Amino acid sequence: MAAHFDLIVRGGTCVLPWGMEQTSVGVREGRIAALGVGPEATAEETIDASGLHVLPGLIDPHVHLRDPGNAAVETVPTGTKGAILGGITAVFDMPNTTPSIVDAQTLAWKQGYVEQAAWCDMGLYVGGTKTNIAALAGLELGRGVCGVKVFAGSSTGDLMVEDDENLEKVMRSGRRRIAYHSEDEYRLQARKPMFKSGDPYASHAVWRDEEAAFLGTRRLMALARKTGRAAHILHVSTEEELVYLRDFRDVATMEVLVNHLTQMAPDVYDRLKGFGVMNPPIRGRRHYEASWAAVRDGTVDTVGSDHAPHPRAAKEKPWPECPAGLTGVQTLVPVMLDHVNAGRLSLARMVDLLCAGPARVYGVVGKGRLAAGYDADFTLVDMKKRRRIEDSWIVSPCGWTPFAGMDITGWPVGTIVRGRAVMREDEVIGEPIGKLVKFAG
Ligand SMILES: [Zn+2]
Repeated sequence: MAAHFDLIVRGGTCVLPWGMEQTSVGVREGRIAALGVGPEATAEETIDASGLHVLPGLIDPHVHLRDPGNAAVETVPTGTKGAILGGITAVFDMPNTTPSIVDAQTLAWKQGYVEQAAWCDMGLYVGGTKTNIAALAGLELGRGVCGVKVFAGSSTGDLMVEDDENLEKVMRSGRRRIAYHSEDEYRLQARKPMFKSGDPYASHAVWRDEEAAFLGTRRLMALARKTGRAAHILHVSTEEELVYLRDFRDVATMEVLVNHLTQMAPDVYDRLKGFGVMNPPIRGRRHYEASWAAVRDGTVDTVGSDHAPHPRAAKEKPWPECPAGLTGVQTLVPVMLDHVNAGRLSLARMVDLLCAGPARVYGVVGKGRLAAGYDADFTLVDMKKRRRIEDSWIVSPCGWTPFAGMDITGWPVGTIVRGRAVMREDEVIGEPIGKLVKFAG
């Protein structure tokens, strides 16, 4: 008797961990049941992927969906809808919401809420603060928690842990890898009086200079070595850090943002003004080139969007009143596919950075590979499709993207989460079916 599946994804070029193969994938009960499914096999549903690339479901490990917070800017439903329209099957959401996710009560609320409201799967960061250190070892093992996030600089209200004494206490509080925003808060505060309201937007990268980032990372690495606690340095933005961190692979993994691989100062500030302001800042060509070198030589573990929407009116304010942060979850995959087509990285390396990398760094269970037994998460990609990114495509209520007007070659045309097609050709399908991602404790 011919094999029968819930779903067969037929005839696509599959990006397997061991290389690309044109093959058909059979799915049962939300998981990959077989590769190399023959023409005689039957299924409840078949997706014709001929002419397309079938990638393991891509993960954006760095988003701020602002929920609870300001629904006029972003929510879990809108942010995850943007994710699936952009070919993302799971996002890891940051804790600096209102209120912040920093204790058992707020975490329990979010765990319940996400599984009713999300269109894709989600991991949750728990924020480390100076007052919840004793609870972190328990919180980091919570359902769906991808890890503790520490803002070592960047003034995110109560969430900041900027001094070595408390950072060391946080590192000694548990055992899983901690994700850091690494800019030295003392240097940022000391340099702030050098600038005034209305200074050019490019001042953002002068204020938050290379040394602010590098000093923050040197301090964190000294403490990580001292305590033996693994660190993931988010959005590494300088050549100095990228070179330095290679000597810390015993304790460190690292992320680079798609923005730092795509835009450069001073052009980004001339064109986008406040809509180019983010932390750490977009810097000059030297750092852009170093980021690509670190992608090519394997230094970089993950690429994220740091999706962090703000309303237009706020971004139109003069510097430095305009808040830092940009939309990105919906444009991450198209922009990276365009980089693949431009020859800046291979499709296999892109999958490594957006799928296997996050799975390895955060200890994801059952995702990260296109292989039997893993979740049937797929991103279907048309490598030849050409399209311009427009503000009108963005479903985040704030309604803008720093990549508007960018002509892209290569586009996500299907998103499948645990065997359910949730997006085909720009159309969202069904109901929010997102679940919490599982992590190895
Ligand atoms: Zn962020």
